[in-house]
Amino acid sequence: MPLVSMRQLLDEAAKGGYGVGAFNVNDMEQIQAIMAAAVETNAPVIIQASRGARQFSQDLYLFNLILAAAELNPQIPIAMHQDHGNSFETCKSAIELGFTSVMMDGSLKEDGKTPNSFEGNVEVTRRVVEYAHPRGITVEGEIGVLGGVEDGHGAGGTGLEHITDPDQAVEFAERTGVDALALAIGTSHGAYKFTKKPDGSVLKMDVLIEIHKRLPHTHLVMHGSSSVPKDLQDIVNKYGGKLKETWGVPIEEIQLGIRNGVRKINVDTDNRLAITGAIRKVLWETPEKFDPRDYLKPARDAMHKVVAERMREFGQAGHAGDYAPIPISEMAAGYKSGKLDPRPSLAGAR
Ligand SMILES: [Zn+2]
Repeated sequence: MPLVSMRQLLDEAAKGGYGVGAFNVNDMEQIQAIMAAAVETNAPVIIQASRGARQFSQDLYLFNLILAAAELNPQIPIAMHQDHGNSFETCKSAIELGFTSVMMDGSLKEDGKTPNSFEGNVEVTRRVVEYAHPRGITVEGEIGVLGGVEDGHGAGGTGLEHITDPDQAVEFAERTGVDALALAIGTSHGAYKFTKKPDGSVLKMDVLIEIHKRLPHTHLVMHGSSSVPKDLQDIVNKYGGKLKETWGVPIEEIQLGIRNGVRKINVDTDNRLAITGAIRKVLWETPEKFDPRDYLKPARDAMHKVVAERMREFGQAGHAGDYAPIPISEMAAGYKSGKLDPRPSLAGAR
């Protein structure tokens, strides 16, 4: 199957009432882990790369690995997504490379650190939409500012400083025409999201539910949504790691989100923990080993297990064969004719 647009994946997820995990990759083993999980659970999937990942792996290595994944697994719909594009140019370069979806994170300025103005965010996101849609490419925007820092991207803080304002979310969706919208509801990037199991004082699911009521046709996105399970933390620490105790976003909160318009859930930290724990275990228990395959294979297996678990929990499992891929050129025609125009707050328009 060729790479499909993320818009199609998310439209189908909305029809089916499930969420789709978007898993970050930097290398071959991570891509293989995701594909093994997608095949095992028969799930459509979003593979995403941050700017840092594109730099680390070099665009062409990364992109061709994903093309290989698509060629080897023709039954699995795969969307290839730029995570946290910081500028028009970053998104344009991803589209030129062949990504089928981009996130323009205009919630921050181009430095990826300083919160942007609302008008600045609308302007740069609109510009990306105007470039992407005629080419059939999906655009995700962000309104409000997430907490934490990952891959050098982020404003820091707890995630509670810039919670998304529902009025602004509606205006943003209408003025930009984004297909999907990331919200700041108290989640943060990285491992250290919450200092105790999150409740309504730190995880603002009520804001998300309110926004979904007012934007019923906009696909909502949860970032910083690793669950950071204790067993994965424990494996890392048991074999010489030094992680401080921390809490992520409980699966039941994500599932509440999925019942309220969340269609894309970003997961990175859980996979990082699974990989690191598996590698630490091998090197700790058998220090005489030095063939990278001796620890990369268990690392890949550990990530496969986490991704398959999330695919079942998010509900995407079993849905890979529900639909035929719409060619990107047809998506482009759909945007041009207005058929795919997101009309956010007009009920039934999509
Ligand atoms: Zn993010």
